[in-house]
Amino acid sequence: MKEEYPMLSVEEALARVLAASQPLPPERVPVLETLGRVLAEDVVADMDIPPLTNTAMDGYAVRAADTARASFEHPVRLRIIQDLAAGYTTDVAVMPGTAIRIMTGAPIPPGADAVVQFEDTEQPGEWVSIFKGVTEGKNVRPPGEDVRKGALILPRGTEIRAQEVGMLAALGRKEAWVHRRPRVAILATGDEVIEVDALWQPGKIRNANSYSNAAQVIRYGGFPLLLGIARDDQGELTAKIQEGLEKGADLFLTSGGVSMGDFDMVKKVLAVEGEMGFWRVRMKPGKPLAFGRIHGVPLLGLPGNPVSAMVSFELFARPAILKMLGKTRLKKPIIEATLVNAIQSKDNRRHFLRVMVEDREGEYLARLTGHQGSGILLSMVHAQGLAIIPEDVDHLPAGTRVSVMMMDWPESG
Ligand code: AMP
Ligand code: MG
Repeated sequence: MKEEYPMLSVEEALARVLAASQPLPPERVPVLETLGRVLAEDVVADMDIPPLTNTAMDGYAVRAADTARASFEHPVRLRIIQDLAAGYTTDVAVMPGTAIRIMTGAPIPPGADAVVQFEDTEQPGEWVSIFKGVTEGKNVRPPGEDVRKGALILPRGTEIRAQEVGMLAALGRKEAWVHRRPRVAILATGDEVIEVDALWQPGKIRNANSYSNAAQVIRYGGFPLLLGIARDDQGELTAKIQEGLEKGADLFLTSGGVSMGDFDMVKKVLAVEGEMGFWRVRMKPGKPLAFGRIHGVPLLGLPGNPVSAMVSFELFARPAILKMLGKTRLKKPIIEATLVNAIQSKDNRRHFLRVMVEDREGEYLARLTGHQGSGILLSMVHAQGLAIIPEDVDHLPAGTRVSVMMMDWPESG
């Protein structure tokens, strides 16, 4: 490969990709569609939650002083003057010697200052026997105990999970402003690549990359636009890219057409249509990586080998998509694990080895998922993580501690 293409570290390449990827403008969406997105507004509480003083228990609203002498041997008897369910208020006041039967969440009636839970009572008829005294404020929740009116509850930049969706709903928000999801145009290249349902012919292979990359786009919150397959032909590639631009792509992902033999094609299209960057990245898999902009839209030219396309996506496209979504935490979790296999004579690139990770009584074991070739998609199928072997490490004995970037962190047990 020619020297004019610099060899970048993973960090340098990522920094350049991120510099060209910016958070997308906000849009207002229904509250449930905010899940996995990032708030583009400050959400302030417009009322107290809970709004009124209310009971934390099912029981009897009383005047605490009435119950002071209550014991199991000498219960205090109070007359029940009303039944109050959650969702209702009452004007009836609890006067000395009386109680109101009350359900969790119901507002504390006037006159009452505590609640005796059912467990400490017995109610044979219109009277309740109290076996245990309560002090003022017992089982009473003040207004604003959860959220105070006027407080900044969810600041802009918050990543929305289920609990934030619930909080938005509790605050009466049917919709909220979040950053728009990136539309990611995905294009396979290669005369040998055919669609999933096409009749197989000698020399052809099915288009795996568009689907694995589209699935990754969906998983990380983007919206995939499948542009199909372009032959190894500059005009066809240019036409497909034009189609993506018309469909409003925020990011282009191509696969193939960047390795030694044919990288000139993606390079040429980038050079003619926009700005071209082409690098070799000091990593394996995924050394060749084209990057540039087409009419201002960033384009990542991923290698064609199915493992390279997926790993390069994880390392470069995923953080770009997350940044466009407004996210600021862009790293996958990294754990320390014991590598079960030995690694012999590697080159001075950073290797990302496909491993299955096992929790052995608190110690993580990482085991290679078989043949590590860039075309071995099964090595990804069996993997949850990528063991990161640094550039300057030539070989590793079995049993060495390594860092593993977890692609998936599934539930266990
Ligand atoms: P390239 O980077 O175009 O030289 O492709 C490298 C290898 O990846 C070749 O063996 C291609 O056949 C294979 N390949 C390219 N594109 C795809 C694709 N969309 N799906 C599966 N394999 C592919
Ligand atoms: Mg090709």
